[in-house]
Amino acid sequence: VSPDVVVIGGGVMGVWTALQVRLTGRTVLLLDAYGFGHPRASSGDDTRILRSSHGDDAFYARWSREARLIWEAFGQEQRVELFVQAGTLWFAREEAGFEAISESTLRALDVPVEHLSTDEVVRRWPGIRVEDLAWALFEPEGGLLLARRGVETVARAARRAGVDLRIAAVRPPERAADGRLESITLLDGFQIAAEAFVFACGPWLPALFPDTIGDRIRVTKQSVHYLGPAPGDARWMAPRFPSWVDYQTTFYGIGAVATTGVKVATDSYGPPFDPSAAADRFVDPEALPPIRDYCRVRFPDLADAPVVETRVCQYETTEDAHFLIDRHPGLEDVWLVGGGSGHGYKHGPVIGRYVASLLDGHEPTDEEQRFSWTRDRSVPTHLRTSAELV
Ligand SMILES: Cc1cc2nc3c(=O)[nH]c(=O)nc-3n(C[C@H](O)[C@H](O)[C@H](O)COP(=O)(O)OP(=O)(O)OC[C@H]3O[C@@H](n4cnc5c(N)ncnc54)[C@H](O)[C@@H]3O)c2cc1C
Repeated sequence: VSPDVVVIGGGVMGVWTALQVRLTGRTVLLLDAYGFGHPRASSGDDTRILRSSHGDDAFYARWSREARLIWEAFGQEQRVELFVQAGTLWFAREEAGFEAISESTLRALDVPVEHLSTDEVVRRWPGIRVEDLAWALFEPEGGLLLARRGVETVARAARRAGVDLRIAAVRPPERAADGRLESITLLDGFQIAAEAFVFACGPWLPALFPDTIGDRIRVTKQSVHYLGPAPGDARWMAPRFPSWVDYQTTFYGIGAVATTGVKVATDSYGPPFDPSAAADRFVDPEALPPIRDYCRVRFPDLADAPVVETRVCQYETTEDAHFLIDRHPGLEDVWLVGGGSGHGYKHGPVIGRYVASLLDGHEPTDEEQRFSWTRDRSVPTHLRTSAELV
């Protein structure tokens, strides 16, 4: 029997879509080439920042707040810790920069924020150096999400809710003359028919849809390092240590959790990357020195800390860093979901809910037009955790 909906891709966007679509009563098949929570996916790192600040963009601030509530309630229901409320700290160099704009947007939405002096930052988080800063914005209800664990837990809940989960790789869809795909073909030639197909394939989307997406989603290699603090030094553990962003310099990081060290990384784009490549996933050697240099200024006690783990992730960035959530322009039974652009993880539950509503006939509102693939995407945005433009 054919399922109503096939979701291809079991990263954060795909697992939440599969679960939310199932909850609307449809039968759902969820396929992933490698599994659910695997290390090659963009969702496949241990931790991700949860923040509400997006400069003057209130839409993602609201989505992030809604998503946070869902992650928290879902984790409690599943009895798995998925969100750690460590807070998110933004290092501000200017009085009236991105952080100040975010602060007024969040205050207008009644999102709790604190405007901290640099002395207060040092008092609360000994180990942080602030000489180059003007102040800091603190989101006490921000923090971190346990990313791989989150995907794995949602996939398990989806299975319990009746979603059929299988490991299988889907071939790039063929062009269809009548504007419908009707069925997908697996690598072994097996065909699966359904009423609708959701391709939530993260950085693999450009290769699956070379004509529709192609180089309009840029895939880059991001090298992430985890540092190991000195023995007995608990200052860097979440929730004691916050998630943090230094927007002007592009650096960001996340406190240690039981299973990882302290993450320090840059939001600058790495080199172009093919996520299907069979090459080993070693981080680029040139990525480490800037991390050490940054730590020397901000966290001197971590500057020479050993690297205890590394991870290669990929950004799949759209032209304006807004997600892609839209019907395929030439196939009416195909939906494209992705373009996380380095900030998509936290929104997973709300993205899934939104895709489920689209399958139910919801027409995007003016605000939701941001996800459309056919609109002009040439206007630069400030949605990432760095001042570097897309
Ligand atoms: C270094 C880094 C840091 C980030 N930091 C943050 C952060 O702090 N906060 C935040 O909110 N977001 C962050 N992001 C962004 C976030 O992680 C991504 O936007 C999000 O995880 C993308 O999820 P996805 O489901 O679209 O893609 P993925 O997680 O990549 O999932 C796509 C899935 O599709 C499967 N697939 C692909 N092709 C096929 C096929 N042909 N057949 C079957 N299956 C297929 C893959 O196996 C994969 O599992 C970060 C990303 C990176 C790389």
